[in-house]
Amino acid sequence: MQQAIAVQPVNTSADNLLPKLNALRSFYNSMATRSYAFRKKQLLNLRDAVLQHEQELYDALYADLKKSPEETWVTETGFFLAEINATIKSLKGWMRPESVGTNLLNLPSSSFIISEPLGVVLIIAPWNYPMQLLFTPLIGAIASGNCVVMKPSEFAPATSAIMHKIIRQVFPEEYILYVEGDGADVIPAMMNNFIFDHIFYTGSTAVGKIIYQAASKNLVPVTLELGGKSPCVVESDADIKIAARRIALTKFSNAGQMCVAPDYVLVHASVKDKLVAELKTWIEKFYSSDPSTSYNYGKIINKRQFDRLVKYLEQGNILYGGQFNASQLYIAPTLMGDIASDAPVMSDEIFGPILPIISFDNKDQALYTIAANKNPLAFYIFTRSSGNEEFWLNNVSFGGGCVNNASWHLTNHHLPFGGRGFSGTGNYHGRFSFNTFSHKKAVMKTPTWFDPDVKYPPFKGKLKLFKWVIR
Ligand code: NAD
Repeated sequence: MQQAIAVQPVNTSADNLLPKLNALRSFYNSMATRSYAFRKKQLLNLRDAVLQHEQELYDALYADLKKSPEETWVTETGFFLAEINATIKSLKGWMRPESVGTNLLNLPSSSFIISEPLGVVLIIAPWNYPMQLLFTPLIGAIASGNCVVMKPSEFAPATSAIMHKIIRQVFPEEYILYVEGDGADVIPAMMNNFIFDHIFYTGSTAVGKIIYQAASKNLVPVTLELGGKSPCVVESDADIKIAARRIALTKFSNAGQMCVAPDYVLVHASVKDKLVAELKTWIEKFYSSDPSTSYNYGKIINKRQFDRLVKYLEQGNILYGGQFNASQLYIAPTLMGDIASDAPVMSDEIFGPILPIISFDNKDQALYTIAANKNPLAFYIFTRSSGNEEFWLNNVSFGGGCVNNASWHLTNHHLPFGGRGFSGTGNYHGRFSFNTFSHKKAVMKTPTWFDPDVKYPPFKGKLKLFKWVIR
């Protein structure tokens, strides 16, 4: 039977938070989080609690983002479950010290790497996948033996309330602390008064810079999972029907509010009309001719984001869609063309259901457009030829991506997920999360039975030998 927990919002003043943060530090120092048994138990308890609250999570994600239970399963709860199951299965092996080779100079020593928890870590999440982006890094942080402060986005309040309830049901506050509130108030209140051992931030590049700067004052390491404009190239030899179907699925899922959604399409001029026609067909198949009433189509998170997005609709020709309704926070899946290269829709991250379609005649033109927004988080190339595939993968620098697909790379926990430069620093998912939340302690162990004089002064006359050993 479900336990009733009354969750009180945390008083987020520094005076109130500091004793709680110090309690986390004491709990971490007690070594309670170190054993495999402890970590596994916490992961199992967390998994059970999420499943127990499955329906409430569906309701909350519908309230915040109009996500269907099916979409919620694929992108939030089920995503979390797959990640936690994979972690529970492999955790023991990941925790074992890793034996590595030893070079000639140091023989007969042996060498190994111990994965040590980082300590007390802060995880900050955005609103677009409010559960996935807070709970997936949490799995890594728990698996690696850390104490955690979780900071959800204030813009998905229904989901945040359920997540808070789950966390309080499963964990004591001195182990996992859940802090709600306006990030601009709460996060400085914590970072100015307490030195975290790591900060894992997911959100916009602009706020990422603020976090990075604040962390640098105390040399706190960071993982930054940021945004950016992710290009999608469709070559003349692509399977256009499949390309359109896959692009439409991920671009308009969650009403385009996805960090790895194709931000814009660069399509070879010879297949542009065909691609646009196929995109229209698939949009109508997925969401009907009136997506505002579709079970499968989400809403924009709030009025601020809605107003920002609606302005983009004036910056080119509407090829399809373009309808919007402020009272429903609805913007139709929209295709746009004829956009000036200096229009904001081509420099800002769109983060909504608006897809610019830009044609190119040669690869240099397309590379020029991509170069205007350095280091995209994701990149997608649709082509049937290995030559084109190789060209694009080698010529665009990006966090992660797909060939003949879009966004699904992030659902494979065997791949590291993260950006580079403006789209982020570091990565996670699966074993990569465990590594992100661990310090790799390097140890060399040297036996005492062998201690040749040659290593010690006097050194005169030993240069030839040193040159042979060290090279
Ligand atoms: P945001 O940067 O506004 O907020 C993210 C978090 O930072 C929230 O918890 C918020 O409370 C906090 N915050 C906001 N202002 C702050 C400040 N001044 N100081 C400290 N903390 C502050 O981002 P958002 O609008 O919630 O999310 C959208 C962005 O996130 C997009 O750019 C998107 O691409 C990116 N994103 C990236 C990924 C990824 O995995 N790389 C995933 C999802 C979203």
